[in-house]
Amino acid sequence: CGIVGYVGDLRAADFLLEGLRRLEYRGYDSAGVAAVDRHQLFHVVKTAGRIDSLADRLADDMPIGTTGIGHTRWATHGAATEANAHPHLGPGGEVVIVHNGVIENYAALKSRLQQKGYVFHSDTDSEVIAYMLEDGYKQLSIAPGRAPTDDALVGLVQKVLAKLQGTYGVGVLFRSRPDLIIAARLGSPLVIGVSDDAHFLASDASPLVGYTDKIVYLTDHQVALLKADSLQIAHRDLGEVSHNVEKLEIAS
Ligand code: GLU
Repeated sequence: CGIVGYVGDLRAADFLLEGLRRLEYRGYDSAGVAAVDRHQLFHVVKTAGRIDSLADRLADDMPIGTTGIGHTRWATHGAATEANAHPHLGPGGEVVIVHNGVIENYAALKSRLQQKGYVFHSDTDSEVIAYMLEDGYKQLSIAPGRAPTDDALVGLVQKVLAKLQGTYGVGVLFRSRPDLIIAARLGSPLVIGVSDDAHFLASDASPLVGYTDKIVYLTDHQVALLKADSLQIAHRDLGEVSHNVEKLEIAS
């Protein structure tokens, strides 16, 4: 239902929690955040129910990472439980995702992954995205002690998205690259907020108000690579494309 993301110098979870509160008006049944820190560890906190219960949980267990994604879920596949709440981790903890929309062919994709031996932890359609990304991640040729390149990760995301039928706004974190978020959409809105030392991600502009008034509207079939100090956008068919930074006009 709602997506937020932050990559910058500050603790990501503060923006994520505030952003999720501003998306509450859209309705939701559960919520969660994930952040990755410089030590390349994921920290996922999620709850069924209100943002207040997520906030309570975060008060005791605050992710310190400066790159993170968050989600409010309006369940389409699977009950409104903590296990089904987003973010969803990949099977080996290399990747974590949030997803808005519906993956219509998830059952076929899931059974193919189960035949490979993967064990799922949720009843959602979304979890296949994390598992497909991680399955592909393992096949990247990465030199020992090195992390995958920007291009390798964007290519991986594009390859996985090409296999999905349905609609998505997605935010993706990779454990080995705590400096970036990858986001993409098809039929589900996403906006990117631009500031001097951070980039923001959100499913509508309301979380960005007060943080930045410079925004980029992602369009269908685009994949965005967000870092603290850069934004690159690639289109499925056109390769790297330029983007317009627009001024967010706030009705007062
Ligand atoms: N289809 C996904 C789920 O049920 C995402 C729902 C949403 O957009 O919140 O988990």
